[in-house]
Amino acid sequence: MSVSTKISRDKAQARSIKVTCAFCQSGKMHSIIDFGDVALAGGFLKKEDIANEPKFPLRLFFCTECFAVQVVDVVEPELLFNNYFYFSSAIRSLKEHFVDYAMEVSSRFLNPEESTVVEFGCNDGILLKPFADQKVRTLIGVDPATNVINTIQDPRINTINDFFGPKVGRDIETKYGKADLIVANNVYAHIPDINGVTAAVRDLLKEDGVFVFEVHYLGKVIEGLQYDMIYHEHLYYHSLIALQNHFSRYDMTVFDVKPIPIHGGSMRYYVAKNTSKYAKSISARVDLLKRDELTKGYNKIETYSNFGLDVALRKEKLMDLLARLKKKGRSIAGYGASGRANTIIQYSGITSDYIDFMIDDAPAKEGYCTPGSHFEIYSNRRLQEDRPDYLLIFAWGYFNEIAEKCRGYLAAGGRMITPLPDVKVVFSPINDADL
Ligand SMILES: [Zn+2]
Repeated sequence: MSVSTKISRDKAQARSIKVTCAFCQSGKMHSIIDFGDVALAGGFLKKEDIANEPKFPLRLFFCTECFAVQVVDVVEPELLFNNYFYFSSAIRSLKEHFVDYAMEVSSRFLNPEESTVVEFGCNDGILLKPFADQKVRTLIGVDPATNVINTIQDPRINTINDFFGPKVGRDIETKYGKADLIVANNVYAHIPDINGVTAAVRDLLKEDGVFVFEVHYLGKVIEGLQYDMIYHEHLYYHSLIALQNHFSRYDMTVFDVKPIPIHGGSMRYYVAKNTSKYAKSISARVDLLKRDELTKGYNKIETYSNFGLDVALRKEKLMDLLARLKKKGRSIAGYGASGRANTIIQYSGITSDYIDFMIDDAPAKEGYCTPGSHFEIYSNRRLQEDRPDYLLIFAWGYFNEIAEKCRGYLAAGGRMITPLPDVKVVFSPINDADL
């Protein structure tokens, strides 16, 4: 059987299977958005591989039993994370963020020279290194991406090249003992076996151990209509109320929260066992956030139905604009070939009828094509010789930075379109006859 036959058979099976919640196993699941069959958002590919590109269903659901918002179509993690194009330390603002993070957490929860800290999804050690600088006694990093974890090479840090789960948790306990602190950043949303991993965290923690993790916040997705955050790597869109339900099944408590202004809006959650000293003094911030989420209806189907409708309207507005511009014979290129761009492109149905090529500032992507849509990716230099009438800025979160890089293009009459948070044209004052 060919790969594509197997995948289409799997897809048909996937759609017919009754959907259950990954957290509480309830069948009370409500569909929010069906993106159709899409290529993996991180699956940048060479031209010669286009014919064999697999596609998978992508559907977002809400569980009315435990309030978890989740993608129900799980792609094997080995396909997504074994080789990874994302090195945290390449981003300077992230580096500073993690230095502050290590200082805050170790001064609050650790006696560094007697402590054991485990991080899963440790990437290239961006957080473990500052913990080592804080003189934490035992540091263990776990990550499945071989090419990324192998760059750590620091004698102060023990590494395990694997997915974290019950077995790795037991191995760590046997070799190093229980942990004072377990950390996980931008990874708690990526785990198919969320129950196995959470049980492993609980079992590996000491009685007064703390689990701290950062993850993209559901509220930002809903309020900012950030539907471009939704792809197969991001299985869950965590709210506090859903996490409280989840951890209560493990006799654990969220005892503090902290909003983090990176990746378009994240939340840091602090969790401990119900019997630990931390669970006795829950921060007022937890109650405030909970009340805020209930006021906004994060426990109600209607909130998510409205979100799904708003997303569909936003897509229509974007496609109307692109169709109008193409009718006038205007040329358009995309800017920012990220995973987020790939969701917008595939969901909206942006094909080569609308866009001629893509630009991205990461040299590693040059010469590759975008997954699903197959636009060729070029560096910013292409704008010097080939000036499209419009640039569609998929990396809209970095709009000002991109506008600055494209000053010459804008000064020469080039225009920019943002797909989110609203569909908008930003143009130079020279000519506005298109609008
Ligand atoms: Zn549930």
